[in-house]
Amino acid sequence: MAAGATWERWYDAYALAYAAPASVPQLACPDCSASALRLVYVVVDLVDRLGYGAFWCDACLQGISLSRAEAPAGAAVALFGETAGVSIPDYAVVSPQVSGSAGVAPETGLAWPEV
Ligand SMILES: [Zn+2]
Repeated sequence: MAAGATWERWYDAYALAYAAPASVPQLACPDCSASALRLVYVVVDLVDRLGYGAFWCDACLQGISLSRAEAPAGAAVALFGETAGVSIPDYAVVSPQVSGSAGVAPETGLAWPEV
């Protein structure tokens, strides 16, 4: 299996996506270079738009998960518990500070973060 992009590279792409959510479809995946990135925020209520961000690539199903993120204006938002219409795939979450893969189980990215 390919080594894949690091969390830092994913975060760089996320920073671009966060700054300009409308540009996400044009961004290149840090891993496979496909223009298939998706950014969805799963929030507890639609007013404060606070929740976690799911940022992934539809082509290679890699991505990162951002806990306690505030959805920027223009970003796709789904209400927690009502994500059926959003179809966030079970993608492989790239974690920070993981130098080796031995014994490290990837997070699903779908668990509600501890508060
Ligand atoms: Zn990809």
